[in-house]
Amino acid sequence: VKAKGSLAGASGSDRTLNRIAALIEGWFERNARDLPWRAVDRRLGRRDAYRSLVSEAMLQQTPVGRVLTKYGEFLRRFPTVRLLASAREQAVLAAWSGLGYYRRARHLHRAARAIVREHGGRVPSEAGALRRLPGVGRYTAGAIASIVFGAREPIVDGNVRRVLLRVEGKALKGAEAERWAWGRAGELVGASAKPGVLNEGLMELGGTVCTPARARCGECPLATVCASRGAVGGGRASGAWAAGAKAARRQVYVTSLLVRDVRGRVLVERRPERGLWAGMWQAPSVEREDRPARRSELPRGFSVRRAGPVLRFEQALTHRLVRFEVWMATVVGGRVSPRRWIAREEVGRLGISNAQRRILLMEADDGTAARPGKGVPRGGA
Ligand code: SF4
Repeated sequence: VKAKGSLAGASGSDRTLNRIAALIEGWFERNARDLPWRAVDRRLGRRDAYRSLVSEAMLQQTPVGRVLTKYGEFLRRFPTVRLLASAREQAVLAAWSGLGYYRRARHLHRAARAIVREHGGRVPSEAGALRRLPGVGRYTAGAIASIVFGAREPIVDGNVRRVLLRVEGKALKGAEAERWAWGRAGELVGASAKPGVLNEGLMELGGTVCTPARARCGECPLATVCASRGAVGGGRASGAWAAGAKAARRQVYVTSLLVRDVRGRVLVERRPERGLWAGMWQAPSVEREDRPARRSELPRGFSVRRAGPVLRFEQALTHRLVRFEVWMATVVGGRVSPRRWIAREEVGRLGISNAQRRILLMEADDGTAARPGKGVPRGGA
């Protein structure tokens, strides 16, 4: 990559850094997407830190489009940090449902409790105090401290790292890229007049203009100072700038039993407190990494009603491809504890993943909706 002008070719001379910061800030102020978590609270004259904390937690591993479908609903349910802190964990997980990565919801819940317990119900403004909250790392702490409170704190996520590396014409990878990017982000924020605007502008640039697969240099405010302008393959990333090959996903096979009783209730069990979907509810299930469970390996105490699964589907997570198989079953002997029966209406109120929700609410295998008293297959006790 031939450097045309670089962020730090004059290595980070103050003038270069000032200029880059100003270019990003000006661009962001003109082009920021209108997103609900960017609204300024008129009473405070700035954003509400609790709402920002919620949005940061949601946006960590979920695309903006999906967050938009859940953010408002979550805040209607838990409009203040105190209401979130006093909620039951299952209610928080249920409100999170559809966003995946439920560990974030647990952390957010614990963070709310810590804010009430240790900070009198006010989200702290300093990055150091923010980082001591459960689930809040360097990035989230920097984002809230700078974007909400105007602190001179850098942030680096995948988008920021990519933009900074490209602007500087560096093809670093892994930990080296991460270290370098934090250093560079710190220099830039030090030269900025509006640290929060700069940080959010960098993220927005990486999310909309300088994306992993494509660099729209013609629309980029940094085109005049970027070492990689046009080198990202005529707008399409190539070579050192291409998005890294996706790591192969590990396969997991989940075999679940859909068990209903005569009242149309479904049987659920709680997952272990650690690992995938920790502590959430699901239909009685077994998991294997090599293949789906055989009939003889299904959970004990049930009788399956068909020769094989009635539904198969898969769900791709970041690091895993989960293949589900669902069998219809009845209880043998009547004893279900520690599992429990829940009404279909309750499925939406417990922490249940989307995939398991699909299983628990699926149509009866005889083609009728499984509603109490209507076409419900006879189950066990
Ligand atoms: S879009 Fe082009 S000019 Fe802008 S930062 Fe990315 S590579 Fe550089």
